[in-house]
Amino acid sequence: MNENQFTMTANGAGGLQTQTTDTDTIYVTASVLLEYLFCPRFIYFMNCLCIDQNEDKRYKVVKGREVHEGRERTNIDYLRTRIGCVNKEVGVYMASAKHHIHGIVDEVLTLSDGTMAPLDYKYAEYRETVFRTQKYQSIFYGMLIKENYNRDVCRGYVCYVRSKNLLKEISIGEREFDEMLRMVSEIIDITQRGCYPRGTKFQAACIDCCYRNICV
Ligand code: SF4
Repeated sequence: MNENQFTMTANGAGGLQTQTTDTDTIYVTASVLLEYLFCPRFIYFMNCLCIDQNEDKRYKVVKGREVHEGRERTNIDYLRTRIGCVNKEVGVYMASAKHHIHGIVDEVLTLSDGTMAPLDYKYAEYRETVFRTQKYQSIFYGMLIKENYNRDVCRGYVCYVRSKNLLKEISIGEREFDEMLRMVSEIIDITQRGCYPRGTKFQAACIDCCYRNICV
C-alpha cells in the first residue's frame, strides 16, 4: 500500500482509524466490516462525524481480541486432513486494490480439489449457528484469497476454540461475493460522501448502543 492512500483500519481498541492523504483509494478491513454489520450507522458516526465509541458501552466487536489474545490453539492438523487440506499458510496479509479491502487471514488453506479456503479462529464457543458476522468475515477473507491467489474459493472455515476446536464450514459462492462487494461499496460511500445509512434491523442492538442519544 502506498502512502497516497486513505485507509480504514482497526485501531488497537477495535474501532476505526482513518488516515487520509488522497481519497482515491479506501481500504476496508474485516474490523470495519464488523462495525458495519452491527449497524451501518456506526461507520457514519465514527468516520463522518468522528465520534468515537464509548469503549465501556460499545457494542462488542470481537475480531482481533478473540483467539489473537489467547492464542490457545492446539494442533488441528487432524481437522485439516479431514477437510482435504494439502497445504496451509499462517497469518497471511493480503490486499485487493480492485475491491478496496485488506487484512490478515489466520490461515490460508489449499484443498485437495484445487480450491482454496480461509480458516478463521474464534476464541469462543459454538452456539448452534455460525453468526452472521463470522460468516461475512469468512467471505471477506475468501475474497482476499481469490484475488491474491487467483484460485477458486468455494468455502471458508471457522474454528471454535472453546468448543474443542469445532470446525464449521461456510459455503461461499458468487452471490456471497456480490453481497460482500455491495457492503464494501456502501462503507466507502458512507465514508467518502457522508451518506447517512439506515440503522440496524436488529432493534435490540440499539438498547446498549453508545450512539442511541444522537441516532435519529
Ligand atoms: S442506536 Fe441503533 S440504529 Fe442507531 S447507531 Fe446505535 S445500533 Fe445503530
